[in-house]
Amino acid sequence: MRNEIHPAPMLETIELTFSYPGEQRQVLKGVTLTVERGSFVAVLGHNGSGKSTLAKQFNAVLLPSTGKVLADGMDTTEESLLFDIRQRVGLCFQNPDNQIVATIVEEDVAFAPENLNIPQAETAERVEYALKAVGMWDFREHSAHQLSGGQKQRVAIAGIIAMRPRCIVLDEPTAMLDPQGRQEVLATIRHLNREEGITVVMITHYMKEAAMADRIVVMDDGLVVLDGTPREVFQQAGYLEEIGLEAPQATSLIARLRKTCPALRADVLDEQEAAEAIAAVLREVKG
Ligand code: ADP
Repeated sequence: MRNEIHPAPMLETIELTFSYPGEQRQVLKGVTLTVERGSFVAVLGHNGSGKSTLAKQFNAVLLPSTGKVLADGMDTTEESLLFDIRQRVGLCFQNPDNQIVATIVEEDVAFAPENLNIPQAETAERVEYALKAVGMWDFREHSAHQLSGGQKQRVAIAGIIAMRPRCIVLDEPTAMLDPQGRQEVLATIRHLNREEGITVVMITHYMKEAAMADRIVVMDDGLVVLDGTPREVFQQAGYLEEIGLEAPQATSLIARLRKTCPALRADVLDEQEAAEAIAAVLREVKG
């Protein structure tokens, strides 16, 4: 039995299968997955592996063919719980232009709470909280359409945060952004997780982005094929390549160097760690 000492995980899928209506082919083939409260999980996989389909299962945009999805302990097939599920688990998509609904930034962020008939004073508080949480408070009176891609995506995220969700699921939130916008959005997502305590599930096919997460779930052909910390997952460089993914450049470089220099530590995540690993071996050689 679950109680307050052991609250339900934020998200849980149990033997989840899914086929799109009218199609035989299963897009999800038995996904069992738990996302703990407060965690930051990246879902990685090449195109067509089922990541977006899985994301839409988390807040009942799509429902299981068989198996179960529990969002904050609530079964997504329970129609009476739909409203609560959508409030607790927010979904953010790739293209910020499709998510912005009002002309002025603060009006856009107020849209969802207003639609929920939340009193004006509380809506104003939520808008302020959400815009500050994504670092866009100073832009509250700006025209949303004149913002950069990264800024628009942060406003779209603020619109979700204004619903006060416990969890946010982001489906390739940086895919349409330039490097600067990508950095801004990633910093925002990290802040929401670390400082605001929001559980984050981020779908991405960028290895470097996935490395920011506490945990990486790798999907291939409708199944979870790897699940572990970034270090654990990236060490499977050969397997990642087989399923159309590549470990980060620094990790691959070290894997190659290790063929002639096995003393190098294998579990490096980025350039900084690669440099340190090489320096450590050089120090030993000199000493
Ligand atoms: P990913 O996000 O990993 O790229 P998707 O979940 O978008 O994967 O797609 C998984 C599979 O489901 C793909 O083969 C895709 O063609 C198919 N698919 C996605 N959306 C639909 C849809 N609305 N109708 C039918 N098939 C779909």
